[in-house]
Amino acid sequence: MKRPGPVKAYLIDIEGVLVRDKRYEAVPGAVEWMTSLVAAGRPFCLVSNNTTHRPCDLVGDLARVGFPVTESHLVGALGLGMGWLRARNKGRIRWLGTALLEDYWREEGFEIETKGSCDAVVLGANPGLEISALDAVLGPILDDGADLLCLHRNLFYLDKSGRRRLGPGAWAAALEALKGAGQVVTVGKPSEGIYREGLKRVGVAPGEALFISDDPISDLATAGRLGMRTAFVLSGKYPDHGVLARLEENEWPDIVCSRMSDLDIQEEE
Ligand SMILES: [Mg+2]
Repeated sequence: MKRPGPVKAYLIDIEGVLVRDKRYEAVPGAVEWMTSLVAAGRPFCLVSNNTTHRPCDLVGDLARVGFPVTESHLVGALGLGMGWLRARNKGRIRWLGTALLEDYWREEGFEIETKGSCDAVVLGANPGLEISALDAVLGPILDDGADLLCLHRNLFYLDKSGRRRLGPGAWAAALEALKGAGQVVTVGKPSEGIYREGLKRVGVAPGEALFISDDPISDLATAGRLGMRTAFVLSGKYPDHGVLARLEENEWPDIVCSRMSDLDIQEEE
């Protein structure tokens, strides 16, 4: 068992920690570990960059394989992105994420434009994204001053077959380099807002929280900088700790373990 020290609450990434990839099969031991966490009365929330599922479907898929989670546990990039747009009255968007969520955006009150101007170009994970779709937002970004809203900036993710696919972070880098007149905003990890939202949800100070993720670059570096303890699990994107060579030593996670069930659930001090 790895002992993270006194921890009052847990902030937990979903893909690569609870489930392996977009197939949503549970990581061995993860359901039992989460069940023990709930039995121990530890507050937790799921801090997720998922942009391919409706929030109710995301937690529904997790509950179906046995995780004791509800929508109230979710702090997601999709919800934060919608909140950012609503707060600024930006209702007309170009959605570059998966077509499966177009209806969800509309149900939430947004208009999805497919040509002409828009308030914001919105990036989410999309295995079907074609270069022509990126070409089509050059006008809004370069000529109309549309904002670029990145739901997150993960450089890649694992699809349903476990294959690495370029993520919104890669497309965001390309579109940001255009230097359009609009704002470039990221609401999901690694942007700090989603971490603060998670801390607010569980009601603890950063030093009392443990952030668990399979991504030390996109997820854990920010958590550590904000003062949280961090655990890097090898059950997702990275099969070994070699990736840490890409980080400065002061950004390394506090704990590296093969899966979340290797972590000791801390008793109340
Ligand atoms: Mg992950």
